Amino acid sequence: MHNFVYERANSADNAMDLGHRDGAAILAGGTELLNWMRIGIESPDLLVDIRDLGHLDRIEEIEGGLRIGALCRLNDVACHPAIKRDFPVLSSAILQSASAQLRNLATIGGNPLQRVRCPYFREETVNACNKRHAGSGCAAYEGHNERMAIFGWTPECVAVQPSDPAVAFAALDAVVIVQSTDGTRRIPMREFHVLPDEDPSAHSVLGRGELITGIEISTPAPHSAYLKVRERQSYEYALVSAAVTLDLDGETIRNARIALGSVAMRPWRLLATEDLLVGKRLGSKDIAEAVDAGFAEARALSGNAYKITLARNAALRAIELASEN
Ligand SMILES: Cc1cc2nc3c(=O)[nH]c(=O)nc-3n(C[C@H](O)[C@H](O)[C@H](O)COP(=O)(O)OP(=O)(O)OC[C@H]3O[C@@H](n4cnc5c(N)ncnc54)[C@H](O)[C@@H]3O)c2cc1C
Repeated sequence: MHNFVYERANSADNAMDLGHRDGAAILAGGTELLNWMRIGIESPDLLVDIRDLGHLDRIEEIEGGLRIGALCRLNDVACHPAIKRDFPVLSSAILQSASAQLRNLATIGGNPLQRVRCPYFREETVNACNKRHAGSGCAAYEGHNERMAIFGWTPECVAVQPSDPAVAFAALDAVVIVQSTDGTRRIPMREFHVLPDEDPSAHSVLGRGELITGIEISTPAPHSAYLKVRERQSYEYALVSAAVTLDLDGETIRNARIALGSVAMRPWRLLATEDLLVGKRLGSKDIAEAVDAGFAEARALSGNAYKITLARNAALRAIELASEN
């Protein structure tokens, strides 16, 4: 076991200072990081525990929306009355994540930073994985790629980002608030994860010493839904998922936002579909045509053509579910 030093940060400034040191890693709930240390994905020299930063453990009303502190536990976010009422897509996505025990420990700030579930990334003895050893290639591209990407992949990396809440956040146009010694950055969740054509070794745009302090959501989306398709009904990652928010005028769609999960290295917004849905009547054949248009840029790997059909049908069904909420 790699030796490391453990420190408890007593302020956000202290966390950023410590987190900026060589070999430092922020520790929140620890449900990811401790596993990575166990299986050798990461070997930090310094663990910076931020759980004493009580001001990051609140959900606050801000102008036109809510600010969810980074240290809020997943279950606390999902069960918050304003989130259940105004953002059911988020509540549902969280409640379908992991297990009840994990959700009591795991934080909302740590969740989008979870690593890909690609078996080649997680297996220490595999040499070709650009995310584990930059520049080494991608064994999954021509290997076991049944669960891998159908959008935005390159032969350098075909992995998918598995977070459920991030998909709901992407459909809600949420913004991640990040603080560092250089100041504050506001990063749309849609742009938080890095596609392989930018950098196949990267997971997110977060830099060393940057602290996520919260995630902001605005514009209540009561007509919204999250559909997660998985091999068993609990404690399982998605094969595909779909988050939909609808702004309705009776039976007519005024505005729609659709994000798919586990189909790319970031939550994938179906922007062409969203444009085409404006003014369409619920239940009409136009809806399926609009969804199909969003899949024009989908590309299957050797083993995952089924995911295109599955994701298309999940998006269609999530639109129905959102309209029923
Ligand atoms: C068995 C299992 C099943 C799971 N199933 C699902 C699932 O179905 N769906 C799903 O969405 N997730 C799932 N997860 C992931 C789980 O939700 C995440 O592990 C959890 O949300 C991570 O939060 P944490 O506080 O424990 O992060 P930690 O493990 O403490 O940290 C994770 C990463 O985030 C960094 N970090 C944490 N907080 C901050 C911050 N505020 N600022 C900067 N960096 C930070 C850490 O340095 C580390 O790199 C599963 C996890 C496990 C172990």
